[in-house]
Amino acid sequence: MDQTTDYEAVIGLEVHIQLQTNSKAFCSDSTEFGSSPNTQTSIVSLAHPGTLPRPNKKQVEYAIRLGLALGCEINHNSYFDRKHYFYADLPKGFQTTQDGAPICIGGKVTFWVEGEMKSIRLNHIHMEEDAGKSLHEMDSDFSFIDLNRAGIPLLEMVTEPDFRSGEEVYCFINDLRRLVRFLEISDGNMEEGSLRCDCNISVRPKGQSTLNARCEVKNINSARFAKRAIEYEIERQTGMMEKGHKIQQETREFLTDQGVTQALRSKEDAHDYRYFPEPDILPIKITTAQLDEIRSSLPTLPNEFRRIFLEEFDLTFDDSEIIIENLSRAKYFKSFIKRNPSIPPKLAANFFINKWYPAEDAGEISTAFEEKYITQFLELIEAGLIAASIAYQRLWPELIKKPQDVLPLCERLNLVQSNDQDEIENLAKEVLVENPDQLEKYKNGKKGILTFFMGQVMRKSKGKANPEMARKTLEKLLGD
Ligand code: ADP
Ligand code: MG
Repeated sequence: MDQTTDYEAVIGLEVHIQLQTNSKAFCSDSTEFGSSPNTQTSIVSLAHPGTLPRPNKKQVEYAIRLGLALGCEINHNSYFDRKHYFYADLPKGFQTTQDGAPICIGGKVTFWVEGEMKSIRLNHIHMEEDAGKSLHEMDSDFSFIDLNRAGIPLLEMVTEPDFRSGEEVYCFINDLRRLVRFLEISDGNMEEGSLRCDCNISVRPKGQSTLNARCEVKNINSARFAKRAIEYEIERQTGMMEKGHKIQQETREFLTDQGVTQALRSKEDAHDYRYFPEPDILPIKITTAQLDEIRSSLPTLPNEFRRIFLEEFDLTFDDSEIIIENLSRAKYFKSFIKRNPSIPPKLAANFFINKWYPAEDAGEISTAFEEKYITQFLELIEAGLIAASIAYQRLWPELIKKPQDVLPLCERLNLVQSNDQDEIENLAKEVLVENPDQLEKYKNGKKGILTFFMGQVMRKSKGKANPEMARKTLEKLLGD
């Protein structure tokens, strides 16, 4: 008998966030990206005997910023641990990390997937340091090591296994990247490795509450790759289960050019890290006053902007997303609307998204462009003194060339819209008289021809008739 089971994927992430501090986690070496190999490596980074680490205040502060933003409980007494393993790019022979008492516990991340809100729980966020970089492809016989990255401060965020698809993870990573940028704790640059994640994936029959063995796909540095790796794994694991095979816990890598994952090591080769508290760094004690100070310095976060834009300003989800993509744009838009209550947010959003941001990105906006000109421009449209399409096509290019008071410019260009009922009615009558065939068709039920009549009225008025008035007048004359 042909039996089919519905499977569901269970996914948990370990995300590494590189912090934008000037100096490393435990010494004053620079963290600048892209310097010549091994130039940011003092004796502490190189772990010479007798050197001692000193924690970086910014790393602790940034961890707390992220923790508070995500509703974590902040551990008032956390400490570092040593995690031992042997590898050429780890000079100390251990990584300084947190195991027993991480700085942030619990919390949750709320993000949007295909227009719906989704929350996943966090297990914890801890502080640690990066390892150096091994370069295996530069030579066929030798590997090279660059220790500039060794000791760069990281946060590791560990989620509960609450994701169910690659798409969810994709949206989560993009949201997280924006969050760390808004918090100004990381540049979130995935191409430079500032956000990397390990994806833990298992598959189980729908309805089963226990977890099956998982595979961990290591070191993924883009949201798109995470989605592809997860989707590949779900298919692979489902296929194996359908054939009656059991999934063994293992570590895998994602081969970006082939779009497949491949086994690296099984659970049997798992490390024993011999964790113990780092004896050279005092425990990190956080007072309530310190927490309050950091809390009061938090900016408005993306989800709060979303709430304001969607609920208070009534923008569409897509428009709101475009504005929130960038902290300074989101902040400016919000304050612009508050300063200009007469301008409908939707009108302003259309303008910024379609005209202002592209011009800004192209470097076309001069410093002489004061906010009052934006306000005047939008007020003219809102007041019906110029049709939006004419404003964008004819007025805007002139305004951007030479920022100036908008109404006089509009008058000089002879673009002021006609709201003269008599004039519009005369034009409308002319149009109906000049197009008897169309009129006949309209009367026989082809109501779509109204658009044609409107187009003719607009043409006769050289685009200046108020379209809304033109439509109403035509409808009146046509007896609708
Ligand atoms: P370890 O310490 O061995 O790395 P953790 O318990 O810390 O394991 O889990 C690491 C990540 O794997 C977490 O994000 C967690 O949610 C996820 N995870 C754990 N078990 C499973 C599973 N069976 N399926 C999918 N993800 C899992
Ligand atoms: Mg882990």
